[in-house]
Amino acid sequence: MTAKIINGKEISEKILNEIKIKVENLDIKPTLAVISVGNNSASEIYVRNKENRAKEVGFNSIVKKLPEETSKDELLSTIEKLNQNPDINGILLQLPLPKHLNEKDFLDKISPIKDVDGFNTYNAGKLFKGETPYAIPCTPKGILKIFEEEKIELEGKTITVIGRSNIVGKPLSALLTMKNATVILAHSKTKNLKELSKISDIVIAAVGKSGFLKEDMIKEGAIVIDVGINRDNDGKITGDVDFDTIVKKASFITPVPKGVGPLTIAMLISNTYELYKIQKGLE
Ligand code: NAP
Repeated sequence: MTAKIINGKEISEKILNEIKIKVENLDIKPTLAVISVGNNSASEIYVRNKENRAKEVGFNSIVKKLPEETSKDELLSTIEKLNQNPDINGILLQLPLPKHLNEKDFLDKISPIKDVDGFNTYNAGKLFKGETPYAIPCTPKGILKIFEEEKIELEGKTITVIGRSNIVGKPLSALLTMKNATVILAHSKTKNLKELSKISDIVIAAVGKSGFLKEDMIKEGAIVIDVGINRDNDGKITGDVDFDTIVKKASFITPVPKGVGPLTIAMLISNTYELYKIQKGLE
């Protein structure tokens, strides 16, 4: 079997175009504010991408670039000003923060109704209770969008998610559970990962280790989603999946790049638009 390679870039362009058309008809455009602290080169690329995408769909985009030595109080004050500013619809705190700042001190300070990443406790709690949060974390939401676009039914499926981070694995497991899948949430202490992934209809790798998921860890015809973004020594970006061998055994596979990554940004734009509508009473 040779897998269908899912074109995440194409799906994301479709979503962004739909939003762009809706935004053209708005007198007041949605505004996304991104706070970036310090000089992380990977973060700078991500922030620029987010800014460009926001502008392409007709949003206003604000980047608050703070120096590496920003204090806790200064960052809290920046967040609070954006919370209070009625012109700002979505606030994103770019992670990771410099070492002296702990993200836990800040994520809950973003107003839940502007929490475009869906990372704060209010929105995460709503998600885990099976209720509707203001925003759902972008990468898990993007992965659900892939399943929807490819007409992949989730109900009754056994799904192994490898990685239990707050930004990918945990919220994804909650969303898949809501879709009536049976979820195995694996992590570094999981003892029999290969046995679990091999019985799974869908395997989602969010580990952060290049080529971690090998061909002998999936069953014939499994659906494989690669969340990983790993940079090797010469700057090449690779996923968590051993693509060249798994593509011959799976039924669907997402590539890296042009798989999950573009969906994450598209969902950030989609979340900003949804928050804008809620704040304007258009929902
Ligand atoms: P993270 O916070 O570093 O979490 C990694 C997870 O992998 C942890 O739960 C860890 O287990 C688990 N793990 C590590 N080694 C393992 C092993 N040998 N066996 C099983 N599980 C293992 O990572 P993250 O933030 O979720 O990101 C994961 C990857 O996705 C990274 O490459 C990141 O760059 C990428 N990413 C991509 C996008 C996108 O848009 N495509 C978005 C976000 C992240 P423990 O909990 O036990 O430590």
